[in-house]
Amino acid sequence: MKDTVCCGCSLFCDDVCVKVQKTELSSLGLCGLGHGYYEAVISSSRLNSPLLRASDGKHTPGSMDEALDKAAELLRRSKKPLLFGWSTSPNEVIQLGLEIARSVQGVFDSTASLEYGTLLQHGLVGGEANKVSLDEVRDFGEHVIFWGANPAESHHRLASRFAVFPMGDKIPEGRESRTITVVDIRETESVRLANHQLVLKGGDADIEILSALIHELEGTDAAPPDQVAGIPAIEFLSLGKQLKLADYVAVFYGNGLLHRPQTEATLPLLTKLVSTLNTEKRRCTLLPLIAYSNTIGAVKTCLAFTKQPFAVDFASKPPKPCSALDNIVSGDFDVALSVGVDALGFLPRPAARALQKLPLISLSSLPSLTTNHARVVLPTALTGVEAGGTVNRVDGETLTLKPFQSPPKGVLTEEQILTQLLQRITDSS
Ligand code: SF4
Repeated sequence: MKDTVCCGCSLFCDDVCVKVQKTELSSLGLCGLGHGYYEAVISSSRLNSPLLRASDGKHTPGSMDEALDKAAELLRRSKKPLLFGWSTSPNEVIQLGLEIARSVQGVFDSTASLEYGTLLQHGLVGGEANKVSLDEVRDFGEHVIFWGANPAESHHRLASRFAVFPMGDKIPEGRESRTITVVDIRETESVRLANHQLVLKGGDADIEILSALIHELEGTDAAPPDQVAGIPAIEFLSLGKQLKLADYVAVFYGNGLLHRPQTEATLPLLTKLVSTLNTEKRRCTLLPLIAYSNTIGAVKTCLAFTKQPFAVDFASKPPKPCSALDNIVSGDFDVALSVGVDALGFLPRPAARALQKLPLISLSSLPSLTTNHARVVLPTALTGVEAGGTVNRVDGETLTLKPFQSPPKGVLTEEQILTQLLQRITDSS
């Protein structure tokens, strides 16, 4: 078995061992999600050769050179290409994507513009509360809150490695030394882990409970209401009391807060809750549970290259921020390159519908909606198994991926493909 770093989610667990044989996968430490990620290596539906769309609309296998020539031609001739995805790719690949975007004066955007844009807009990143490592949460996280986040499904080992069960410097007995609160509108798997299980009711439930908690923490003489968002006063008051007693509170939040109609009103209240809890005697930290594995790497790499976190238009000098999503919907692009993610499956429906009409170039290890519609499909090596590089964990920690086996014959890494693509584009200009 090989020691490796799992790329199945943004935790990038670096304590796992994997052995891949022809049709068999054995592992130590991998969760179900991680196992699913590695199964791509032995999947019978794995993409093993480039595909080109013929005039009858059907895909036919082609050589890597043919596919690269076609992809380079599409990008070179394009008046406004979109280069999208990137959040599962190593930082070196993202850097190459930015260089290609600059060469063809296109728009570079990652899935971060949807996942991370809202956080920036509401000042949920970049402050003291976000300068936190998962190791710090493991060592000091006395009260851990999961709000609109369900790590039992999205980040399986967050609980066992960092946030619930492990012992830490100030957490001598692991789970017994922590208080866990889960706030959600559904009774998720994660709710079962919690001491405080707040399953909210009502459309504005998050707003109501956040406002009431802040009020309670700030101190009030008013009698509490019988219930808030379906949570009885006794439960709600006991949560407030325990939060006041804690020395360290770690808040993780997820899609349940980020992608709801009430998000605009909810997120400022979440920020307020964290600042209320952050006192001289108590540290309160805040981390989003982002879905795509290397979203943080995509943001960091784009920031280093352009001073923008995502959505950059290289047609301007210097490159300027843009709203790539709006540009997609209004039909501004004439070609799109999708790397590492299923763009058509990920984007909101109006954007996906508009993107589907364009000539698409897709880099992927497995078939997807995007590869099905693509004019050129370039099969890629699996990151962390057959391709290495640098990535950033959800808390920003940098990890190095080392490949431990070769990709199938004829399949290249994203880095090799994009290097050759950039070469073809620059050679002809
Ligand atoms: S928690 Fe994430 S990184 Fe860790 S083993 Fe599971 S899928 Fe892989």
